[in-house]
Amino acid sequence: MTFEKKCLIELSDILAVQYQCAKCRAAVSIPIDKLNPEYAAARIIRECPHCQTSSGFVPGTNESRAFVDFNVALKNVIGVMEGRNFKLLLDIKCSE
Ligand SMILES: [Zn+2]
Repeated sequence: MTFEKKCLIELSDILAVQYQCAKCRAAVSIPIDKLNPEYAAARIIRECPHCQTSSGFVPGTNESRAFVDFNVALKNVIGVMEGRNFKLLLDIKCSE
């Protein structure tokens, strides 16, 4: 018999998003209910406040819009899923 370990996250389990500098790991955590597009956009435009490394995003590009839109969509979909008889689960890599 073979078993496969699955790690699933329910959207209602997501409490916050964390914006983290990939270089120095300095991070800020934003609760889901406080997510807003202006703040998300400001975070990727600014350089890391700790090590001053650029995020690599260029304002006004499709990539920067995709990042901001994802933040908005995440907040919205978590809200619309409340109280439903339907769940959206994210299948994530399990830690060892
Ligand atoms: Zn940094």
